[in-house]
Amino acid sequence: MFHLRVAQSSLRSQSCLSCRSIAYKPSVFRCNFHQTITMPKRQREPDTAPDDAPLAKTQRNEKPDESEVVKHQENVLRHPSIQRAKEIDAHPPMTELDELVKRQKADQPVRNVLHWFRSKDLRIEDNKGLHAASQKAKEGKGVLITAYLWSPRDLEWHGTSPARSDFILENLRIMQKQLKGKNIPMVILTAPDRRDKSVVFMDFVKKNDISHIYGNLEYEVDELRRDIDVVKLAQKEQGLSFHVFHDQAIVAPGTMTNKGGGLHKVFTPYHGAWLDLIGKKPELLDVVDAPAPNDETAMNNYKHLFDSPLPELPPNKQFASTEERDRIRGLFPPGHQAGIDRLNKFLTTKVFNYARDRSFPGKDPSSRLSAYFSAGVISPREAVAAAKKANKGKAFGAAGDAGIASWVREIVFREYYRQITVIVPHNAMNLPHNLKFHFVKFEEDYEAERKWYEGKTGVPFVDAGMRQLNTEAYMHNRARMNVSSYLRMNLLIDYRKGERYFAEHLIDWDMSNNTEGWEPSFTVFNPVVQAEKCDHDGDYIRQWVPELRNVKGKAIFAPWERLSKAEFDKLGYPRPHVDFRESKERALARYKQGMADANAHVDDD
Ligand SMILES: Cc1cc2nc3c(=O)[nH]c(=O)nc-3n(C[C@H](O)[C@H](O)[C@H](O)COP(=O)(O)OP(=O)(O)OC[C@H]3O[C@@H](n4cnc5c(N)ncnc54)[C@H](O)[C@@H]3O)c2cc1C
Repeated sequence: MFHLRVAQSSLRSQSCLSCRSIAYKPSVFRCNFHQTITMPKRQREPDTAPDDAPLAKTQRNEKPDESEVVKHQENVLRHPSIQRAKEIDAHPPMTELDELVKRQKADQPVRNVLHWFRSKDLRIEDNKGLHAASQKAKEGKGVLITAYLWSPRDLEWHGTSPARSDFILENLRIMQKQLKGKNIPMVILTAPDRRDKSVVFMDFVKKNDISHIYGNLEYEVDELRRDIDVVKLAQKEQGLSFHVFHDQAIVAPGTMTNKGGGLHKVFTPYHGAWLDLIGKKPELLDVVDAPAPNDETAMNNYKHLFDSPLPELPPNKQFASTEERDRIRGLFPPGHQAGIDRLNKFLTTKVFNYARDRSFPGKDPSSRLSAYFSAGVISPREAVAAAKKANKGKAFGAAGDAGIASWVREIVFREYYRQITVIVPHNAMNLPHNLKFHFVKFEEDYEAERKWYEGKTGVPFVDAGMRQLNTEAYMHNRARMNVSSYLRMNLLIDYRKGERYFAEHLIDWDMSNNTEGWEPSFTVFNPVVQAEKCDHDGDYIRQWVPELRNVKGKAIFAPWERLSKAEFDKLGYPRPHVDFRESKERALARYKQGMADANAHVDDD
């Protein structure tokens, strides 16, 4: 998240997005308690260096020039060229890493063994890389060491929300304690700059007599490039190797082929093949043990590696207040056990109605496990194995429970999107999956943008979703579908700004899911019709839009046209920024034109 300080003198009294209490300037999105505005920044890594001038000034509490702010806004939309995107797709970094790893000599004597935790495998239970590292350590006379590489500039770069940043740290805190109970140290390394990551990491490796490094794969381009750097550096050392594991998904991305031998690029056949595979290979759901303890002598011999202090959150990743922080921690308590408790509760209650209720946000029908999956606090194997048990061992289809099958289908979506990240790497570089959508010309309507961020578009279902996000660092899936459609179609704002805003606010931000969720298309959701179907009593709207709490009947879905002018004016609720029908036509025409322009530049492949 990128914050800019605003002049106190120009503040007008209104409630803030986060704490809803203190004055803020209408053109900015945060209160003077936060003293910030949120300017979306790149979520994904283009092949260009960021311009951090306004950020540096913000950190010095200086007000950046307007031109710097505008330039920074442009950064949100920066990306490599289409040509470059195609080159990266043709030579995916995953393939390069695979080849480098295979080429290593790995038969060196075992000394100390390191497991390198990343922000997507924050658990010691059923962790493939950690388990393998533990087994390897037992082959030699050394110990198992673990490390986490803290990169505050990465949080900045990806726009990671305070909620997710805090969730990561709190999970690390719990893991460090668990590991210490097994005489295993967990060291926090800090890379001051993004470019320092591999060097800081390798410096630690060299100083600690490590012979084998283990880690679980992260599939985004940047993270794969970081691992490529590390393998190359490891190859320069005598007796050192780097081993990577597929741990994020049950079926490793890029491994399940269709009848023609290719990879599935459409979800429905992928889902069918995934279910078949799980049926044929039930061992895919087997979980692995937590690491075996180190010998007690490790506590003395490696004393300097224990009790490594956890970092503080950078200023722009902190919550507005400790109350705010504790409230979010209450909604998403950290720790594997908390995740497993939530999973078990869901699988004995709501899951049985999931097929019926999943699209009704007012019923809060889903598991709310996304934060745990995205940080790897629980594993998908643990979740699906538990779902199988709840399904009495039956297949996830007609033979078993409909709710369970429907929920597992969502987990399969998650797996499928990881596959897309691997096979379409440009997707992680601020370009749409379908490159043709890159040619759509969006509007520069900052007023519309601001209304969307604040949940004040005047469209109740959209505003309810955005206010849930701003309050809970979470939003129900149906609401995510509606708010994203409204931003990129009706308001015709570049979808990348919404994508970035989600990253900056969600506790469950996950590049693969978010990017695919935001992928442009011609679909336009009508948020009034959607609300009538999915929130038919208006409970969700009433929960999140208090101005409308007393509106009776169907007027709640479109109060500007279903109430009299006098009744509407009393609500203190805005009229829609755009007319639905007109804006839909404008968007469809603009998207169509974008496709026509694209055809001159992008081949169908
Ligand atoms: C515009 C948009 C942006 C999104 N951004 C994210 C994101 O940053 N992080 C994220 O985890 N999900 C994202 N999703 C997917 C989905 O909305 C959330 O995973 C879901 O709402 C999380 O709630 P839950 O854990 O209660 O889900 P449940 O309904 O209980 O589903 C169980 C799990 O399945 C996975 N899942 C569910 N729905 C989807 C889906 N549509 N696509 C992929 N996986 C899914 C999640 O891991 C989820 O925790 C996005 C969807 C859209 C439309």
